[in-house]
Amino acid sequence: MQDRAIFRGLSFASWAVGLVAVVALLTGCDAIRIYNGSGNAVGLLVDAQGSSGVLNDHSVISTATSIGFSNYTASPNSNEVIGFTNDRPPKYLATPWTTRRDTFDLTFQPLIRIPVTVWIVQGPYDQQRLHAIEACIRTSAIWRAERMGVEFGPFEVRDATGDPEAPAHYAFPNGDVGDSVWKPLRDDIGFIAGRLNIYWVDTVNGGTGRGWSNFGAQIVMGRNTGDELLSHEIGHAFSLTHTDGNVSFDVTNIMASASNTRQYVTEGQLFRSHLNPTSVLNALYNARPGEMTRTCSFGDIGPLCPAIQKRIWADGSFPAN
Ligand SMILES: [Zn+2]
Repeated sequence: MQDRAIFRGLSFASWAVGLVAVVALLTGCDAIRIYNGSGNAVGLLVDAQGSSGVLNDHSVISTATSIGFSNYTASPNSNEVIGFTNDRPPKYLATPWTTRRDTFDLTFQPLIRIPVTVWIVQGPYDQQRLHAIEACIRTSAIWRAERMGVEFGPFEVRDATGDPEAPAHYAFPNGDVGDSVWKPLRDDIGFIAGRLNIYWVDTVNGGTGRGWSNFGAQIVMGRNTGDELLSHEIGHAFSLTHTDGNVSFDVTNIMASASNTRQYVTEGQLFRSHLNPTSVLNALYNARPGEMTRTCSFGDIGPLCPAIQKRIWADGSFPAN
């Protein structure tokens, strides 16, 4: 009799599980189906109305190709999902949640390839060419690990050391002066339209370890710059500004103004790098045709702009938030 009682108990348990599944189906279990992922975990920032309130940038990490949720409905604020994964650009997806069972398809775009040209202004050429290549390798590794979804292609290095006008550009001044300090580089050294042009000089604003970006197609790098500095200067070209003074950041973020240990990028920074219309990914490369753009400044928060310090994954000592 005891065996039979256990059997009846198990049977009831499986029946109950089945009932829960059916009820869930009827009331709506929502899902995001992932397409063109890279085989790595996917992180989502979800805006929706949940059962216990409005969700703003609710973080989810999953390796599933169909990521399930409880029943979300329309939030009065924002209904959208941003997907992140390695080797794919962040993907914006509108998700007009309903009371029924919703399924939305999040299809990642391919890895974005950006051509760049490096002009070696001060030699020795072979040494500074290697320097530029090391910076390329470090920046590529940061982008891959931190899910920037961008790679160089091609990373072209040109020898301008024999240009008679090169010595006049060994010392680059403060780059915030305006285009009056950037135009002479274009005119005298060279410039390829439609791509980032990176000039390797001697000093930038008086320092051999400094670099500068004009938030557009031009970057200058000093003779002794750290390999990770290029990720910082291109971060400016991607519309990012300095993280200095914000308690959610330290010198390990790529946008710290003074560091030699830059390596992390938050999801808030990834979002801005791709969605801000002024980012060179949009304004210069037109690398995201048909994709959503949205202007989010450093301090913007709320339903439409993830906070700059938003992290789906921990960055060193800064936990996911
Ligand atoms: Zn900077």
